[in-house]
Amino acid sequence: MMDKAELEARLSAYVGTTTGPPVAAPDAVNEAMIRHWCEALGDRLPVYTDADTARQSVHGGIVAPPTMLQAWILRGFSMASPSDEDKDAQVEVGRLLAAAGYPSVVATNCEQEYLRYLRPGDRIFAETVFEAISGQKATALGTGYFIDTRTTFRDERGESVGWMTFRILRFKPNQVPQAASPAPSTSQKPRRLRPPLGHDNRWWWEGIEAGEIRIQRCKRCATLRHPPRPMCGTCQSIEWDWIVSQGAGSVYSHVVMHHPPVPGYDLPLCVALIELDEGTRLVANVIGCPPSQVRIGMRVQARIEPADDELRLPFFYPAAT
Ligand SMILES: [Zn+2]
Repeated sequence: MMDKAELEARLSAYVGTTTGPPVAAPDAVNEAMIRHWCEALGDRLPVYTDADTARQSVHGGIVAPPTMLQAWILRGFSMASPSDEDKDAQVEVGRLLAAAGYPSVVATNCEQEYLRYLRPGDRIFAETVFEAISGQKATALGTGYFIDTRTTFRDERGESVGWMTFRILRFKPNQVPQAASPAPSTSQKPRRLRPPLGHDNRWWWEGIEAGEIRIQRCKRCATLRHPPRPMCGTCQSIEWDWIVSQGAGSVYSHVVMHHPPVPGYDLPLCVALIELDEGTRLVANVIGCPPSQVRIGMRVQARIEPADDELRLPFFYPAAT
């Protein structure tokens, strides 16, 4: 595998170059695509779809929603699995990074500016340039490289109609730390994901171990806060202590998770935002009744119980009525 210096030299050679020749939109701007877009997004602005209203508007006729800019040049599903004949340098850079051990990709930023409304009949061309490729960065997702591109959209007269910047991260995913597990046995339940423990929240989890749901309290203004964090959002004091919640509260909001299966979690599972009577909220599971019976406003009571052979969590049960 190539070393870091060679990889970065090869990456930097792309900066300032185009990803390929200008791409022509396969179809001229047209009313059918505009209508489908508006239907899909629920956009009922009449200048996009109603010819009579559009004629009397400042536009004098139907225009395309500006946010469709990229839609005119996007390819279909073939984008997701480029062929060997694909000459797009973005594909090349992706392959280069995958071969160097950075196989994953995530889009992180996108900005667009629209310079004029597009009208049916406009032919759109797009040219993309590599604006920047970062040095190696450590991120929460993993180590990798940020790639910034800038796409300029032009009409058939060569005039700019808008632009888009797009940033992706190509990365080597962090390994999810797994608790050291004993040899698998069919009788043992898989463990849930472990909470990340740090300086700012360890005391809260120690509270759970001690059988307490703690709520952080500002020492200066007594405002309660959760999740744990270093500074009071009301008075900016960094002095704090905690109170112990009674564990009584109500369901503020909830979802029922059906899919995907995750080891250690029994589905369907009600994941709820509980508003404690003390006033702060926390995310927890409501158990003790079928998930379908959980309702917003339902009174619940916490019990700290084992989630698996190692981890204890606050679970909420319907309150005795
Ligand atoms: Zn405060």
